[in-house]
Formats: sequence, structure tokens, C-alpha cells
Amino acid sequence: MSAAPVLVTGGAGYIGSHTTLCLLQAGFDVLVLDNLSNSSPESLRRVAELAGRAPVFVEADLRDRQALENVFSHYRPASVVHFAGLKAVGESVEQPLRYYENNVQGSLALFEAMQAHDCAQLVFSSSATVYGDPESLPIDESESIKPTNPYGQTKAMIERIILDWGQAWPALRGLLLRYFNPVGAHPSGRIGEDPQGIPNNLVPFISQVAVGRREALQIFGSDWPTPDGTGVRDYIHVMDLAEGHLAALRALDGLNGVQPVNLGTGQGTSVREMVDQFARASSREIPVVEAPRRAGDIATCYADPGHAAQLLNWRARRGVDEMCADTWRWQRDNPQGFKI
Ligand code: NAD
Ligand code: UDP
Repeated sequence: MSAAPVLVTGGAGYIGSHTTLCLLQAGFDVLVLDNLSNSSPESLRRVAELAGRAPVFVEADLRDRQALENVFSHYRPASVVHFAGLKAVGESVEQPLRYYENNVQGSLALFEAMQAHDCAQLVFSSSATVYGDPESLPIDESESIKPTNPYGQTKAMIERIILDWGQAWPALRGLLLRYFNPVGAHPSGRIGEDPQGIPNNLVPFISQVAVGRREALQIFGSDWPTPDGTGVRDYIHVMDLAEGHLAALRALDGLNGVQPVNLGTGQGTSVREMVDQFARASSREIPVVEAPRRAGDIATCYADPGHAAQLLNWRARRGVDEMCADTWRWQRDNPQGFKI
């Protein structure tokens, strides 16, 4: 590696692999650190195939301080994009200690290594889940932080740690990217989301129904106070999100301190609208059954994307039709995900 690379933690995962590709294509050298606890090395092999060059890959756990020390002293990264973490809401309710330990301890070990090596540029994967049930819509960054589950609490805690760290270390430049609902896949159909077990999220579940791996989608609540009674979310194409990370990295140079930024489209889509779009994109029927509301769900959530537009000069460009078409291409060509 010639120039100082970007360290991408969790770069073998869903959003990390798309972002790694985007960074490689933009000319960055990329160093991925991932323990592969929720991903496959095949994703990075395919990223290399698409980019025409490979990221450096270090298989390690973020909580392994010696491994971090080796990575920082050997590769001297100039900036960090920090994706690595556990992300399943339901699992976090059942195993809170595991979530706090992995997400918060892992982040602390990373930040300590960054400071020890004078690496002062950070892009952090936060989530709109930190807003809990929002007081006003669209949600802007001044909305209060009140997560409703341990996963969301870990994101809120890590944000707090980074903000306090920035107060104590004025050189630190950080962006706390609050993603809304990432979906979709690279348009090649070579990389995409590969959930282990039964998917918790809407679009991966719908796509497994479309490909015949599952019988029917359960619609969690048809009596929400929304136009068609089903939950409304701000779905964002993973390629838009990847480009948002590139824009964030570029914005770090001119930034003062640490601040949060929403990454969403500003458009709400209901469960029923998503099912209809997916059926059109895949030319498959998507059987649905109405089910009770899922515990902890909210009616409606969508972003005010204005701050990202102004600060990062970035806006999501891809619509729900493209999100479904690209998810479907990935699912159809890789019905078992990265398992070959
Ligand atoms: P993912 O599970 O596909 O990727 C996370 C990666 O981190 C995986 O490759 C996993 O192996 C790795 N990892 C986990 N713990 C680790 C550790 N201790 N050490 C090293 N590697 C570790 O998830 P994703 O969907 O790509 O999400 C990436 C980030 O974005 C996560 O922090 C997640 O919380 C956040 N996020 C995701 C969503 C979403 O809906 N996908 C929404 C908002 C925020
Ligand atoms: N949803 C659903 N059936 C499913 C999964 C999700 O009806 O099998 C609904 C869920 O109630 C919410 C929307 O789809 O209204 C998005 O859910 P997801 O879990 O993807 O995202 P989040 O709830 O985290 O925004």
C-alpha cells in the first residue's frame, strides 16, 4: 500500500462491502478488519473482482487490542469507517450483555488505538433507531435521542462517547451517520445482503418469499395510523449509502469537531407498497398474511435529508423500483447468498 489507507471495520458485511467497493473505485486504498462473525470472505473476493483490485483484509476482532495495535502500527490508516457491530434488534433484547460488550467495547478499543496512533478522522455507522418513536416528522438531527432497545442504546452510547472524545481531543473529526432503512444490492448482482437464518427485516424477507425460500410474508400490523394501515419507512439503496460514506470521508477534511448526519431519502414507503413494488420487479407473486403488530415497532419513520445535502453535498438518487430490482437480481442469482 502506498498512500495511507482507509480502515474499514466490518468491511466484509452488507453495507461495508458496498462501501469498500465504492472507496476502491474512487481511488482509495482500503484495509478491511472483520472477524467474519456475520459475513463471508466471499463478499470481499467479489468486491475485488468488481473493483479490479483488492482491499487488504485482516481477519480480527475489534476487541483484540493487540491485533488493533499491529494493524495501526503496520498500515498507519489516515481515517476509519467503523461499521463493525452486531445489529439485530430482537437478539439485542435477548442478549443485551453480548451487544454492549461487542459494540461498545469494540468501539472503545478502536478509538483508543486511533488516538494512540494519531488517527483523527472517523465515520461511524449509527442508525435512525437512536430516535426511537420520533416526536416530529420528517426526522432531523435535532430530534431527541431515546432508543427503545439495547441495540439502539449501543448506538446512542457510542455516539455519546465520540462526542465526548471530540471535546477532549479537538483534532478529532467525526461524522455520526444515522442510516434509515438500507436495502438493495450492487446492480451487478454479485454482492448483496446475506442474512443468516430467518431474516428480521422486511426486504430480505420479501425477497426470500419471491425466490421460494419462504412461503409468505407476515405483515406486522395493518391498523397503524398510516394511509394503508401498514408501517412506513425511509428505505435507502445501499449504493446511495455507500456513496454517502465516500462523501462523508471527503467532507471530514473541512469539518470542525463531531456531528450527526441523517442518511435517508426523505420518502416514506409502506409495507404494502414495498410488496407491490417487489412483485413488479421480480414478476413473482408475494403471498402475504396479516399478523399482529411486532413489539417495539413504530408507525412511521422518515428522514429530513437536508443536513446531508448541505454538509456532504450528497443526496440519495435511487428509487424504490431500483431498490427492488437490484435486490431481486442479487437474490435470483444467489438464492443461498454467498454459499456456493
Ligand atoms: P453486517 O452484519 O452485514 O456487517 C457488520 C460486520 O461487522 C460483519 O461483517 C461482522 O462480521 C463484523 N463484526 C461484528 N462484530 C465485530 C467485531 N467485534 N470485530 C470485527 N468485526 C465484527 O451489518 P450491516 O448491515 O452491514 O451493518 C453495518 C453497520 O451499520 C452496523 O454497525 C449496523 O449496526 C449499522 N446499521 C445497519 C443498518 C441495517 O439495516 N443494515 C441500519 C442502521 C445501522
Ligand atoms: N415488517 C413486516 N414483516 C416482516 C418484517 C418487517 O411487516 O417480516 C414491517 C415492520 O413492521 C416495519 C417495516 O416492515 O413496519 C420495516 O421493518 P424492518 O424490520 O425492515 O425495519 P425497522 O423496523 O427496523 O425500521
